[in-house]
Amino acid sequence: MNTAVAAQLPRGALANDLSAIMPANAAFLAKPHKLLIDGAWVAAASGKTFDVRDPSSDNVIAHCSLGDAADVDLAVAAARRAFEAGDWAQMKPVDRERVLHRLADLIEKHADELAELEAIDNGKSVVMARHVDIKAALEVWRYMAGWPTKLEGKTLPLSGTLVPGQQYAAFSTREPIGVVGAIIAWNFPFLLATWKCAPALAAGCTVVLKPAEETPLTALRLGELALEAGFPKGVLNVVTGMGPTAGAALSAHAGVDKITFTGSTEVGRLIVQAAAGNMKKVTVELGGKSPTIILPDADLDVAIPGAASAIFFNQGQVCSAGSRLYVAAKHFDQVVGGIADQAKSMKLGPGLDPTAQIGPLVSSIQRERVTRYLKDGAAAGASAAAGGQALSSPGYYVEPTVFVNVNDEMSVVREEIFGPVVVAQPFDDVADIARIANDTIYGLAASIWGRDIGKVLRLAPKLRAGTVWVNCHNVLDATMPFGGYKQSGWGRELGGEAVYSYLESKSVCINITG
Ligand code: NAP
Ligand code: MG
Repeated sequence: MNTAVAAQLPRGALANDLSAIMPANAAFLAKPHKLLIDGAWVAAASGKTFDVRDPSSDNVIAHCSLGDAADVDLAVAAARRAFEAGDWAQMKPVDRERVLHRLADLIEKHADELAELEAIDNGKSVVMARHVDIKAALEVWRYMAGWPTKLEGKTLPLSGTLVPGQQYAAFSTREPIGVVGAIIAWNFPFLLATWKCAPALAAGCTVVLKPAEETPLTALRLGELALEAGFPKGVLNVVTGMGPTAGAALSAHAGVDKITFTGSTEVGRLIVQAAAGNMKKVTVELGGKSPTIILPDADLDVAIPGAASAIFFNQGQVCSAGSRLYVAAKHFDQVVGGIADQAKSMKLGPGLDPTAQIGPLVSSIQRERVTRYLKDGAAAGASAAAGGQALSSPGYYVEPTVFVNVNDEMSVVREEIFGPVVVAQPFDDVADIARIANDTIYGLAASIWGRDIGKVLRLAPKLRAGTVWVNCHNVLDATMPFGGYKQSGWGRELGGEAVYSYLESKSVCINITG
C-alpha cells in the first residue's frame, strides 16, 4: 500500500466504539439469532451458526443461525400454509392496510435504533442510515400500505363473435401470486428487504426472506417488528444463511411461486436458471455501470459535488452509482479536479462516527475485489487523480478514487467495481454521448447535468437505462419504478409496477345469453 497517499486523508479512529451503542442494540447483538419460521424463532435444523462482523474493525459482533435447504423447506411450507389459510391473502384489504401501517409505525418508533444497527452491520454512516435507508424504507412501507384497497380489476368490453348467438360478460381481477422467495444484497439491507417485502405483502403474498450473509441483522429486526405488528404466523419468514445453499434452495424450490432477487448479474443468471424448474415468476434487480454525463452548459457548482456524491455515496456500493463519468472536454480538468479535491478531503471513519464521510466497505472480500480493480486499472495505464489504495487497517477501507487516462478496453471502465471508484473521460461531441454512455452490458441508470432543458430532453430517451436523472443522481422514491434495461435486470421495484409484479391477473368470463 502507498501509505503516503493514504495518509493524506483526514481520519479519526477507524473502528466503531461499540461500548456506547443504544442499549436495545447492545442487547440485540448479544443474543443468539434464530430463524423466523411460522411465527416462531427457531435454530437452524443443523444447529450451525455463522459470524457477523463489524466492517470497521473486522470484529465479530453477532452470531446468526446458518439456515440451509432444510430450513428453507420449513419456511416455504409455513409460507404456503399461511397463504392457503387465507388469513392474509383473504384479509379485508382495509385490515391488511392496518397491519402494514402498524409495522410502519413500529419502524418509525425504532428508526434510530434500526439506523444504528444498520451502520454497525454494514459499515455505512449512521447519519445516512437514518436519513436515507430507514427514512426511505419507512416511506416505502407507508406507500405500499395504501395499495391493498386499490387493487382493482376491469370490466372487459368483449366483442363476442366467437360463438354465434351467445352473449358473454367478462371482468378481470388481481390475485396474489402466492409464496414469494426474496433474496437480497448487503448494500442497503433494510431498504432492500423493504423493497421486496412491502409490495409482496401488500399484494397479499406470503414471503420467505433471505438477507445477505454479510448483513442479516436488520432483516431479523424486521421479523421481530412484523410479529409485534400482528402479521399472521408464516406470512413473513426470515432465513439467514449462505447464498449457494439457502439462497439456491429458495430460488429452486417448487413450493415458491415467485422469486425476487437483488444482487449481482452473475448470481442473477443462476436465479433465472433455478427458477425455470417450476417456471416461477422472476424479478431480478442486478448490477450497473451507470454514466454521469456533464454537458457543456452544465452548472458546475451543482454538477461537481453531484457527480462526486453519485459515486462516493455509500462507499460506491450502490447499484446505480455514477461510476463512469463523461465530461464535456472544455470542463474536464475543472470537473475532475473538483471531484478529486473532494475525494482527498473526505473524512474516513466508521459508521458510528457522525462526521465520517467514507466508511469501510462491507467485507474483506469486497475490499479485495475493489483493490484488485485498483491494481488492474493502474496496470492498464489509468492514473489516479485521487486515491487508488486500500488501507491496511483491520477495517475494510478503500480510498475514494478518481481514475483518468482510461479507455474503453479497461476492466475499470467495463465492469462493475461496486466501490468508491469513478473512471472519468472527456467527450467532444454531444451528438455521440448517448452511444458512448450506452456502450455497456448494463442499463440501470444514468444522470445528465445541463441547463438547456431541450438538449436534456432530447438526450434522455436515447439512454438505454431504467432511470435517467437530470441535475441529480440516486434520487429514489416509493412511487417511482426502479430497475434495469439490458443485463441490469428484469422487472421494476417500487411504485405500482412493483405491486403488480406480485399479482396474477385473472379473467372471469360469464355466459349471459338470455
Ligand atoms: P450477490 O453476491 O449476487 O448476492 C446477492 C444475494 O444472493 C445474497 O443474499 C447472496 O447470498 C445470494 N446468493 C449468492 N449466491 C447465490 C446462489 N447461488 N443462489 C441464490 N442466492 C445466492 O451480490 P452482492 O455482492 O451481495 O451485492 C452486490 C450486487 O448487487 C452488485 O452487483 C449490485 O449492483 C447489485 N445490486 C443491485 C441493486 C438493484 O436494485 N439493481 C440494488 C443493490 C445491489 P450471500 O450473501 O450469502 O452470498
Ligand atoms: Mg454476498
